[in-house]
Amino acid sequence: MFSSFLIKYAEIGIKGKNRYLFEDALVRQIKYALKKCDGEFVVSKTPGRIYLDAESEFDYDQVIEKLSHVFGIWGICPVVRVPLCPPEELCEKVVDYFGRMYGEQVKEKETTFKVFSRRSNKGYALDSMELNAFVGEKILDAFPEVGVDVHNPDITVTVEVRDKIYIYSEIIPGPGGMPVGTNGKGMLLLSGGIDSPVSGWMVAKRGLKIDAVYFHAPPYTSERAKQKVIDLAKKVSAYTGPIYLHVINFTEIQLYIYENCPHEELTIIMRRYMMRIAEMLAVENEAQCLITGESIGQVASQTTQSLAVTNEVCTLPVFRPLIAFDKEDIVNISKKIDTYETSILPFEDCCTIFVAKHPVTKPNLGIIKRHEHNLDEKIDEMIKTALETDEVIIVTEE
Ligand code: ATP
Ligand code: MG
Repeated sequence: MFSSFLIKYAEIGIKGKNRYLFEDALVRQIKYALKKCDGEFVVSKTPGRIYLDAESEFDYDQVIEKLSHVFGIWGICPVVRVPLCPPEELCEKVVDYFGRMYGEQVKEKETTFKVFSRRSNKGYALDSMELNAFVGEKILDAFPEVGVDVHNPDITVTVEVRDKIYIYSEIIPGPGGMPVGTNGKGMLLLSGGIDSPVSGWMVAKRGLKIDAVYFHAPPYTSERAKQKVIDLAKKVSAYTGPIYLHVINFTEIQLYIYENCPHEELTIIMRRYMMRIAEMLAVENEAQCLITGESIGQVASQTTQSLAVTNEVCTLPVFRPLIAFDKEDIVNISKKIDTYETSILPFEDCCTIFVAKHPVTKPNLGIIKRHEHNLDEKIDEMIKTALETDEVIIVTEE
């Protein structure tokens, strides 16, 4: 029945002179999402809206599913598209549409409607006011049980007269946010846990392109733990497009810290080195910020004092979208974006292997820095090696 979709967007409409950049990015993301759908599509842009016309058979559910992952889409309207025709014939089409969509519903309960017409094709015989009245009357003739309510109708049937005629009335909610790539790029510290994939998703929803880094510590962390991170990146890439995942071998550095620093400070010092390396990768890859899944008070390394000490090594801004979220809320998002089941698989992550029984919860920056000097001899070389042996995996949705 449907052969087009009208894509409505909200926030990108307010970007003034740069609006076209946002629209172009959205068109690009839509085209990318459609690549994975069967069928031929034409995506076109008119002021304030984007149309998607199917030029062949296609799978409706698949298209809706893919579009519901494209940030920047506020709503998706399935459209019946018919050739341009005189008003009488146009009415027949709209009445037919109305019957197919609501024929059953209007018999069962009181329903009100209005017709909302737009005539972008100025040569058309009736203007929008005339069309509203004309089409509305025909619907009333065909369905005497419905009522008209121009202020608060149950159903608004939109009729757009363009080079073809577009008829629609339903809006399927999109994910909202802004098109990926319109707000710069971030380097996501992606572990195998619940939090960091959710963070990446949240920031991407605000228009950031995402690269990711995973600190891998073989043999203390297994290949399965690494695969789990790749699988999580895959899930996130269903929303963001391809993710460049940097796998950094962290074993030597971790052992070196373990051997030379107090064990209760191990996690915090390790986190400082993760942030330092992530920042180097970010700069090298033209990302403007770091993103983590940290949340106040979750573990010893996420007390306010610990976060301050971790943050101290960074000059780039660190985005922590989950900072004030309760775990339950994070879990709910991870279920919604389908990362939860992967995140809870049991494989160890590199932090848990070396965790001290009583890690510091109120680290003192001066003391931490003093202990980091124990690493002066080899740490720069180790970081260099870690960056040189960076394994880059381009992760895309299957
Ligand atoms: P998550 O659920 O995302 O693993 P967490 O609650 O386990 O988070 P931590 O282990 O303290 O918390 O890690 C805090 C943040 O540091 C993570 O959200 C992630 O951004 C980053 N991080 C931790 N371990 C790694 C790792 N091995 N590789 C990359 N980033 C990591
Ligand atoms: Mg973790």
